[in-house]
Amino acid sequence: MRATVMYKAHDVQIADVPDAGLRNPTDAVIRVARACICGSDLWPYNDGPNVSGQQMGHEAIGVVEEVGSDVRTVKPGQVVVMPFAYSDGTCTFCGDGLQTSCVHGGFFGQGTEIGGAQAEALCIPYADGTLYPLPVGEDDALMPSLLTLADVMGTGHHAALTARVAPGASVAVVGDGAVGLCAVIAAKRLGAEQIIIMGRHEDRIRLAKEFGANDVVSERGEEAHERVRSLTGGFGVHAVLECVGSGQAIGTATAIVRPGGGIGRVGLPHYDTVPDVQPIFNENVSVAGGPAPVRAYIEELLPDIMEGRIEPGRVFDKTVDLDGVPDGYRAMNDREALKVMVRP
Ligand SMILES: [Zn+2]
Repeated sequence: MRATVMYKAHDVQIADVPDAGLRNPTDAVIRVARACICGSDLWPYNDGPNVSGQQMGHEAIGVVEEVGSDVRTVKPGQVVVMPFAYSDGTCTFCGDGLQTSCVHGGFFGQGTEIGGAQAEALCIPYADGTLYPLPVGEDDALMPSLLTLADVMGTGHHAALTARVAPGASVAVVGDGAVGLCAVIAAKRLGAEQIIIMGRHEDRIRLAKEFGANDVVSERGEEAHERVRSLTGGFGVHAVLECVGSGQAIGTATAIVRPGGGIGRVGLPHYDTVPDVQPIFNENVSVAGGPAPVRAYIEELLPDIMEGRIEPGRVFDKTVDLDGVPDGYRAMNDREALKVMVRP
């Protein structure tokens, strides 16, 4: 079968790989109906993959083709969304709603053994725990929004929850990528009164406003911090949703949070230490977040998508087939595309 393989930085190709098949009785095989390229795929695209030959992609909606003998709830023919992490659904951490820490869990699209979703098909470990059946056909008009349940919408929601966004809160979202935009949706959904988007891309800012952002801060560094403080009566925001993962982004987060506020980190950290630990200690700021257990959030977010209250699928602005995936990486890396959908 054909799949997206990364050999080295800036070298993404569509290659022939062994067909996806069942390896364990708890596995299922899905035919990929929709996948996408993630902002986090751009880290290996620029810095090099974990291993040469890394199979890429961790977000998909698929149709179940085959299930192992121990799979109980997932059935062939079902349309399912796969979170970016697989999980058994039965361990103590899955019970806590923290499927990304599942004792049998792991991540798609990280190496050569567990496949990637930017492919014709994919083997899903622990199918009953991992997959979530969707109440739609594979050509449903809601497909783009449903696809965001695999990662970006759930991740934006996690940023809002871990930053403790509450009704009436003031919120700053650091980053105007797909996760940042979904974080705006999540903050609005949880009742935030003031949402400040921090970013500089005109089309993304426009979408952020349509999703519920009231204020835009496009400055950088100290100037940006000053602007946020001036927009919040001099105090800073209740909640910072850090959706980038750079040292500059976390520095902004600690600078603009108000006393007693929270920082929710969902950008994969490319820094070693959180800055300003003493001032944020003095101000009782909580720093939380991590990889989002998106599997836990599907049940809550799905009705809002099905009933049209939120439209996170609007983050997709380019669609490619498998052959177009390498160009999709290039387009996202050049900031020509916000988020690319793949129809294998
Ligand atoms: Zn588990």
